[in-house]
Amino acid sequence: MKGAWAVAKEDLAEAVLAFEHFLRQRGFKVTRTRLWIAERALGFPGHFSAADLWGTLRIHGISMATIYRTLDLLEQADLIRRCTFMGTGARYESCLGHKHHGHFLCRRCGTIVEFDEGEVKEFLCKIADEHDFQLQQTVIQGFGLCAACRHAEREGWASP
Ligand SMILES: [Zn+2]
Ligand SMILES: [Zn+2]
Repeated sequence: MKGAWAVAKEDLAEAVLAFEHFLRQRGFKVTRTRLWIAERALGFPGHFSAADLWGTLRIHGISMATIYRTLDLLEQADLIRRCTFMGTGARYESCLGHKHHGHFLCRRCGTIVEFDEGEVKEFLCKIADEHDFQLQQTVIQGFGLCAACRHAEREGWASP
């Protein structure tokens, strides 16, 4: 769901501040570059790769290495989530205004569908209980074909 959520300006400013606080607390350097990257990443409307982010920051001459490093720090600060989809590189998404959810990924066009994982999670907790396992984190994702791609395959169209 590209552009499915928007982040309020105040929330964004607050999250960048929280990141700055995190960096200081952990003894990492607070640089203007890191804060720029944080602002773009936290406000990014949808799932993005490091290269997507780099595309929006190109004018600042920021290296990919710096972007990867900052994304890593943002993840440690619990401000962004890394979602790794089979067959694609790591993608990220802002945690702002966006609660934990599951993903379906279309194998043909890469479309991502998000869904509320509430019931699935409850079910997993129950199974974990039965195995005396304390569940701390779950990643729920599925792979397949979206409606448009199923239609395209029926009609014999080439991949986009
Ligand atoms: Zn598709
Ligand atoms: Zn998502």
